[in-house]
Amino acid sequence: MPHRILLVEDEPGLVMTLTDRLVSEGYAVESREDGESGLEEALSGTYDLVLLDVMLPCKGGFDVCRKIRQAGLTVPILMLTARSQVVDKVVGLQLGADDYLTKPFDMMELLARVEALLRRWATPSVSGGSILQFGSLQIDLRRAEVRKDNQPVNLSAREFQLLRYLVEHRGETLSRERLLTEVWGYEAGVPTRTVDVHIAWLRQKLEQNPRNPQHLITLRGLGYRFQA
Ligand code: CA
Repeated sequence: MPHRILLVEDEPGLVMTLTDRLVSEGYAVESREDGESGLEEALSGTYDLVLLDVMLPCKGGFDVCRKIRQAGLTVPILMLTARSQVVDKVVGLQLGADDYLTKPFDMMELLARVEALLRRWATPSVSGGSILQFGSLQIDLRRAEVRKDNQPVNLSAREFQLLRYLVEHRGETLSRERLLTEVWGYEAGVPTRTVDVHIAWLRQKLEQNPRNPQHLITLRGLGYRFQA
């Protein structure tokens, strides 16, 4: 499977050049042109690397970087900027960026940095993909692996799909109907109790105290929410 790169950059020319080049090197590239939608996309947790411009409309790159780290994502971030000030570099690295490149940059230089970051990221001791950490829970969305207190947890395919959907929409209130539609693909009219049963199973497997869940939260009359 090709490595997935998210490019958050608002200069159309640069987006085109970078996308063309990265795709020709065998990467799968997705791009967003402002900080807000770039952040949203990055939080899907499905990328192997984020190329992040500093000066962006809606939300600046530093802000996006900080939010990605606050959400528990460890995806490598390579920041791009037109400014060459040392202070930017320091700020970016403090906020959790992994590397930094000043515009205009040499394409070969960029490709080398991307490759280095992906290689470092791919070493087993670091991680194997997009791993999310929530307290004692570790969720690898790409490998469909879950660990609790560093012990592997066995989930059924459906349980993992439900967990993935909850995690990808963490912080949102999700109705039982929506979960049935999105996770089970059911039409309306199927008993919503199915969702409750699966949530109960997930709690048994994932929560420290299933009777007092910290992550899989019930919102009475509304549905469920995954809390980081
Ligand atoms: Ca820019």
